[in-house]
Amino acid sequence: MHTILVINCGSSSIKYEVYRMPDRESIGKGLIERIGQDMGHICQKRPDGKVYDSNAPMPDHKAAMEHLKSALIDGEAGLISSMAEIHGVGHRVVHGGEEYSTSVTIDDKVIAAIEKNIELAPLHNPANLIGIREAMNQLPDCTQVAVFDTAFHQTLSPAAYLYGLPREFYDKYRIRRYGFHGTSHRYVSGEAIKLMKRHPSNTNVISCHLGNGASITAIANGKSMDTSMGFTPLEGVVMGTRSGDIDPQILFYLMERGFSKEDLNRILNKESGMLGLSGISNDMRDIEEAAASGNKQCREALDVYAYRIRKYIGAFAANMVRTDILVFTGGIGENSVKMRERICHRLESLGIILDDERNRENGNRQGVISADYSKTAICVVPTNEELQIARDTYEIIDGM
Ligand code: ADP
Repeated sequence: MHTILVINCGSSSIKYEVYRMPDRESIGKGLIERIGQDMGHICQKRPDGKVYDSNAPMPDHKAAMEHLKSALIDGEAGLISSMAEIHGVGHRVVHGGEEYSTSVTIDDKVIAAIEKNIELAPLHNPANLIGIREAMNQLPDCTQVAVFDTAFHQTLSPAAYLYGLPREFYDKYRIRRYGFHGTSHRYVSGEAIKLMKRHPSNTNVISCHLGNGASITAIANGKSMDTSMGFTPLEGVVMGTRSGDIDPQILFYLMERGFSKEDLNRILNKESGMLGLSGISNDMRDIEEAAASGNKQCREALDVYAYRIRKYIGAFAANMVRTDILVFTGGIGENSVKMRERICHRLESLGIILDDERNRENGNRQGVISADYSKTAICVVPTNEELQIARDTYEIIDGM
């Protein structure tokens, strides 16, 4: 049995989880928040209900990692008895550029590549690197593995990843579709294939990850063929606060009317999407509630959301020989019975037929929600990126 620590290090937070592999057993998880502020907070939970909760000064990630260690081996609510129990650490890394199409053991070359890709993910890769460096300092004898959000989409063909821009923009500036949420799409498509008792080598899946960020991916015979997010996570469907696809000329039009580059960056990433459209919230629950009590803007926001997702499903279906499975995941995909209904309504012409009762009864569990006669099976699969990272880390250690 191997003990694997999974780390998702952000600029002011660290999410972590400990797994026993290959049993896929989570023995607890935690969240450290407010790193860099006067007082940080760490909360760790065990499956038996034991909680480690503490406020402490966390001036930087080094201090946060020290607290993480204390929480892990705490006599009362710890997850392990000593740090020596940990065999490997799996790190979520947002951008692997074109360098990595699979998860890899971290060495100097990998660190250099993550550094090189900071220009493509300036908000995420630096924080991921800090987590890697701290974990390497504190657990020098462990295998450290990088699992990239972009890696799964490295199988896209030039037809799917090139933009209609001058060719030198790709050669010189590395502008292309990279895609994100790769670990989630890989996990849920794999689980859906198992659920339907099929084999990845002859199954085509369209996977809808609908959380605060959202993306749709077409997976043909186990390989990502196209995905809605692009050079950055801004492209694609309408999200919680991101606009998704817009006519790029809108930016120039607004610039001519006094909006700065910074304004537009903020508006498109933080003030648009469902928040901008509904005018009340980026949270799907609030919007569904307001729409149900007659709020017109919210009703329209829900229609835009579902329409855009259907558009991608249709486009991806048109580029695959057939679609065997449509899978929903993420906070909205897993929980919103109504949104799944809204999206699937009108997909009947593609042979994707929802069973309303199964959809309602399934709620947020893993299961099949399509009609028996639907050509495409529709599934709900709760995502588990941490487990996928633990699996990748275990496989690398096991193969050494
Ligand atoms: P993140 O991308 O931050 O991980 P999540 O995957 O947790 O986000 O998804 C958050 C979204 O899921 C929010 O818009 C939230 O409203 C929505 N959500 C969660 N539960 C429900 C529910 N029962 N019904 C509708 N939407 C839900």
